[in-house]
Amino acid sequence: MSTKTKKIILQENEIPTAWYNIVADMKNKPLPMLNPATKQPLKAEDLYPLFAEELSRQEMNQTDRYIEIPEEVREKYKIYRPTPLVRAYGLEKALDTPAHIYFKDESVSPVGSHKLNSALAQAYYCKKEGVTNITTETGAGQWGTALSYAAKAFGLEAAVYMVKISYAQKPYRRSIMQAFGAQVIASPSMSTKAGRKILTEHPNYQGSLGTAISEAIELAMQTPNCKYALGSVLNQVFLHQTVIGLEAEKQMQMADEYPDIVIGCFGGGSNFAGISFPFLRHKLSGEKNTRFIAAEPSSCPKLTRGVFEYDFGDESGYTPLIPMFTLGHNFSPAHIHAGGLRYHGAGMIVSQLKKDNLIEAVDIQQLDSFKAGILFSQAEGIIPAPESCHAIAATINEALKAKEEGSKKTILFNLSGHGLLDMAAYDAYLTDSLINYELSDEVISQNTSKLEKLV
Ligand SMILES: *Cc1c(COP(=O)(O)O)cnc(C)c1O
Repeated sequence: MSTKTKKIILQENEIPTAWYNIVADMKNKPLPMLNPATKQPLKAEDLYPLFAEELSRQEMNQTDRYIEIPEEVREKYKIYRPTPLVRAYGLEKALDTPAHIYFKDESVSPVGSHKLNSALAQAYYCKKEGVTNITTETGAGQWGTALSYAAKAFGLEAAVYMVKISYAQKPYRRSIMQAFGAQVIASPSMSTKAGRKILTEHPNYQGSLGTAISEAIELAMQTPNCKYALGSVLNQVFLHQTVIGLEAEKQMQMADEYPDIVIGCFGGGSNFAGISFPFLRHKLSGEKNTRFIAAEPSSCPKLTRGVFEYDFGDESGYTPLIPMFTLGHNFSPAHIHAGGLRYHGAGMIVSQLKKDNLIEAVDIQQLDSFKAGILFSQAEGIIPAPESCHAIAATINEALKAKEEGSKKTILFNLSGHGLLDMAAYDAYLTDSLINYELSDEVISQNTSKLEKLV
């Protein structure tokens, strides 16, 4: 009988009691966000109209290494946390690699991805400060479903602006949001000035994330007791996601291992930050020399081919100016199926870490990502989200390198979500209807050269 441990499980009372704020440990802090009109650094108070006050303070906090997770949030985390750490024996065998491969399984959350870790925190602080309504945008629907559930869990009304084409083409995530009690509005809509303007000019416009963000921000600014929530990119979101890595650190200890390489797929950076930052703190302190790899799509390569400049977080230019690796806020990525990775910029903390060479980035082609996803499905029995397939592809590359070198590397990656609502994408791959996208340097520089040089 084999006694190999497959899953490393923590108890409910081992859910972390504090999030880890990596900024406190960074020698080079991220540059400040700027007010686009005055070019002056933003203060926490400037964000109060948009976000709960405590969340605005978390956004700016550069001194507290740990921030307590409220008991009410830990209570809700119990629905799916702690999540398992899994040894990917099946994948190791399929690759015939001496590497040990582990993954943190965030796909077990009720909405199927890691996004609930921050949605619950954001909804909690809003409720605590007397907010009654919360609003956001969603593309394919992963963030929208997480926020819809979190709002219901804390007794808030949620309004989600969903990109119109996804509203029509991805009805199941819309149904999930509605089942959780949220109001879902196809964007552009007639309910906001931003939406009405676009619809009168282009009645058939199918929507974009940029427009949906503008609509949600407008609603939040004009509705009393209504706040806006964002699912990635922000410092507060990275902070909340560190529960992933804090649990994983303990679980790796239980397995008597420490990762040589930590890998996450990369959209705006939240799941990558979540799995990496707790391990990165031992690199910042000089104890460990772990490699950290962000896996982004070749069609939206902000970390590998973008520029480090101040840029807007949204298409319309409503947000503050953020110092980040970016392809330009008007960059329009190809319609790959990993919708969650189609974002033009990288959160400011990860951008600074990349600038300081503390993390690495690789780009993955669409066909390679699905090839990896299929191999993983057959080896481990879980259909990964198209986004997560990028982390798996990068993991496979490292595991094969370890095989070539005959070295026993320990690799940890984050399985950010499952793909059970993305089977249309798998269908397209399995019927050879998917393609790779090449992106020329000209297209990248067309967008990035328009950015004002403020760094
Ligand atoms: C949203 C999403 C991502 C990308 O967002 P990050 O903030 O970069 O983590 C990745 N995987 C899944 C499953 C997602 O839902």
